Amino acid sequence: MKVIVTGGAGFIGSAVCRHLIRSTDWSVINLDKLTYAANLASLASIAASPRYRFVQADIADRETVRALFEQVRPDAVLNLAAESHVDRSIDSAGDFIHTNIVGTFVLLEEARRFFDRLTPNRRKAFRFHHISTDEVFGELGPAGKFVESTPYDPSSPYSASKAASDHLVRAWGRTYGLPVLLTNCSNNYGPYQFPEKLVPLMILRALKGETLPVYGAGDNVRDWLHVEDHAAALLTVLKNAEPGTTYNVGCSAERRNLDMVEAICDLVDEIAGPLASGPRRGLITFVADRLGHDKRYAIDADKLTTRLGWKPAYDLDSGLRQTVEWYLGNEAWWGPLVKRGDALKRLGTAKVGVQSVLIDRGQLMAPKSARV
Ligand code: NAD
Repeated sequence: MKVIVTGGAGFIGSAVCRHLIRSTDWSVINLDKLTYAANLASLASIAASPRYRFVQADIADRETVRALFEQVRPDAVLNLAAESHVDRSIDSAGDFIHTNIVGTFVLLEEARRFFDRLTPNRRKAFRFHHISTDEVFGELGPAGKFVESTPYDPSSPYSASKAASDHLVRAWGRTYGLPVLLTNCSNNYGPYQFPEKLVPLMILRALKGETLPVYGAGDNVRDWLHVEDHAAALLTVLKNAEPGTTYNVGCSAERRNLDMVEAICDLVDEIAGPLASGPRRGLITFVADRLGHDKRYAIDADKLTTRLGWKPAYDLDSGLRQTVEWYLGNEAWWGPLVKRGDALKRLGTAKVGVQSVLIDRGQLMAPKSARV
């Protein structure tokens, strides 16, 4: 098997590359543009493998994607390349439209072109697996969970761009017969996550004794899954799911944001030792809520567990402890990202106005990236 993983230098993509090299004999070609969110250091453990190869390119660069398909002749594509941070999408959505929508369109077109020329046997085996989020479903009230047939109702520019890409993927399956798979996963946490996201942001700010900004009253609820469980779930779906199907991925680990931050404070106090000023819970400050902030997400992953037999290895408490321990022991990984400047800053206030519109226009006409 030869698999192209797009976005393999990101948080989940790098976990997928590591998982594939570790637990299969497949070859993995990591196609990544290397945006601010990428970090090749996340792939250090597999970089020397003869079954791993990295290619720097934009998934929206049609010529390069076409050349890569022809050179690699993959059996599957796992599409994880994306702009993924909701707050950034609120300030400036151009890159989200470019990568999440246009990029997915280009990948689908080139996958179809390649697929149409395959022998019948290879066509039977080929898969295009698109990785998406539960945020496409919008927000839940206090009860209920998202199932695979929940109607799409995205709230943020990020989730709207992901919803658009999901629709494109299904359309390419139904219209052109491309054997597509789709997974919608809950919030991920774990090692190697860029420190702008809630869990690493709070761990690193808590470690430094900085204030811990929590949106609104901290009562927004998210459903949390360890990134290694997500990677294993993706392999299960890729190997076993019927083309044209969708699976939700999650492990019923709902928690209010405030409870999550308090748990992180307690773990950092315990593992790194207390601050002279007192318990880190005292660093929590409530800030104006995120625009369009969905109240609650919760995933029903019964289809995945009952039909395909996937089970998570981590519960939230053990996974969070492992994650805090990892960040506290791996400053060599996150230190350079924090030094770059914007990783621990507040974004998403939409106070960028006209400039952001101009930047967006420029981003939509982004120059071509490196060739294969
Ligand atoms: P990430 O931001 O950590 O990584 C994204 C990667 O994609 C980066 O390495 C970046 O360089 C690359 N990339 C961006 N634009 C590209 C382009 N035009 N061409 C090639 N590469 C490009 O994101 P993540 O958290 O690892 O998320 C991966 C996927 O999983 C996304 O599709 C996201 O929507 C989905 N997802 C994420 C979560 C989560 O909690 N993080 C939950 C569910 C689904």
